[in-house]
Amino acid sequence: MLDFLDIRTLFFIGAINAFICALMMIGSRRLHPPSRPALLWAGATTITLGAAMALVASRGHLPDTISILLANTLASIGALGIYQSFRLLCLRKPRHLPIALVALVIVTAHASLGTSYDNHEARIAITCMMQFAMAALTVPMLLRRRGIDAPMPLNWSICVMATFGTLNLLRLAAVIRQGVAVDSGGMLAGSVMQTVAITLYALGPMAFALAFIGIVNARIAGDLRRLAITDSLTGLLTRRGFHDRAALMLERSEGQTGSIALMMIDIDHFKSINDRFGHGCGDRVLRRFGRLLEEILPSRAIACRHGGEEFCVMIECGDADAARRLAESICERVRAESVVDGEHRIRLSVSIGVATDPFDGTGLDRLLTSADRRAYFAKDSGRGCVIADDDVSTQVRHARDFAPS
Ligand code: GH3
Ligand code: MG
Ligand code: MG
Repeated sequence: MLDFLDIRTLFFIGAINAFICALMMIGSRRLHPPSRPALLWAGATTITLGAAMALVASRGHLPDTISILLANTLASIGALGIYQSFRLLCLRKPRHLPIALVALVIVTAHASLGTSYDNHEARIAITCMMQFAMAALTVPMLLRRRGIDAPMPLNWSICVMATFGTLNLLRLAAVIRQGVAVDSGGMLAGSVMQTVAITLYALGPMAFALAFIGIVNARIAGDLRRLAITDSLTGLLTRRGFHDRAALMLERSEGQTGSIALMMIDIDHFKSINDRFGHGCGDRVLRRFGRLLEEILPSRAIACRHGGEEFCVMIECGDADAARRLAESICERVRAESVVDGEHRIRLSVSIGVATDPFDGTGLDRLLTSADRRAYFAKDSGRGCVIADDDVSTQVRHARDFAPS
């Protein structure tokens, strides 16, 4: 039925496919340092499997010890490599010793089977068992990565490994029950089962490489996104990350009671900290201030470093008054703390502008504009205070100037 597919050609194409895929994976090793060992193992494994397929394709043209004995040994060992590669891809410790021991057993088994066609079924059985065991160990490991790695490439990897596991189990059962059609071509003798199996083996390296590169690419994209939204100094959100999350918070709050407050927090006289104690000290103060903000704020709040020594907070709260009280408590808490840097004890104060949705308008841009304007009012009113209204004279609570000491 499938005799138009020539097995030798399938093996030959499988070998070329494997070498191209190995090149792709080894060539990608620098893209994502944590995935580098996995990519190197996957590349080396694919080369091993490609070599096995190339040797089988050369049967009759090379000595049997190479095209039968070595080819089968490499194919069985390749299964171990796939398992190890997936372990590393799942960021688990490699298992060198057990893998070396199993490899030794495989080499011994194949060596004792020799090159005789009589042992053809036993050789296929070993390869099938190895590949089934590899899939059976790999699939649960990948399933545990659900919710951690991107679903698309992870599900693809699970499907690929489950398909290979099933294929090898079926093949093993068929070999045990009815043997394989063996003629003078041995492994190259065609049967439906054999043709289907070898077609899938030939496509295997591509499926394997797509799984690997897909997961690694998704991790790179995730890392880049995290970098883009995380301020490297304070670990808070960047302006970009904040704007995305804040827009989402405002969207979710639509139609609900309560309000959303936006606070623009500016450290007072920060430049003088740099001038007096150095830029490094200024950096440490900013880092400490970021941590302090996280400590003070409830977990539902989102906070970012909006730029320089300006921080922005968005939080759901009952009403405008509750927002002002929260801002005042931040002001007081900051004033109560002092940052110790070496022999310096630095006291901080902040000026905060507060705007509340829906009282000061809706939409992030409007809130930012109002909060920013009020932060300026707070500066003009003597710093170290909260302004939550455009009627400044009634709003200044703590108009004291706290120069860092
Ligand atoms: P004001 O009370 O009016 O806000 O005065 P200020 O000194 O805090 O504000 P100003 O805008 O005059 O100066 C802000 C300073 O923040 C100047 C800049 O060098 C410093 N700055 C901005 N980003 C960083 C940073 O990442 N690290 C350090 N060390 N300093 C920074
Ligand atoms: Mg400032
Ligand atoms: Mg400023």
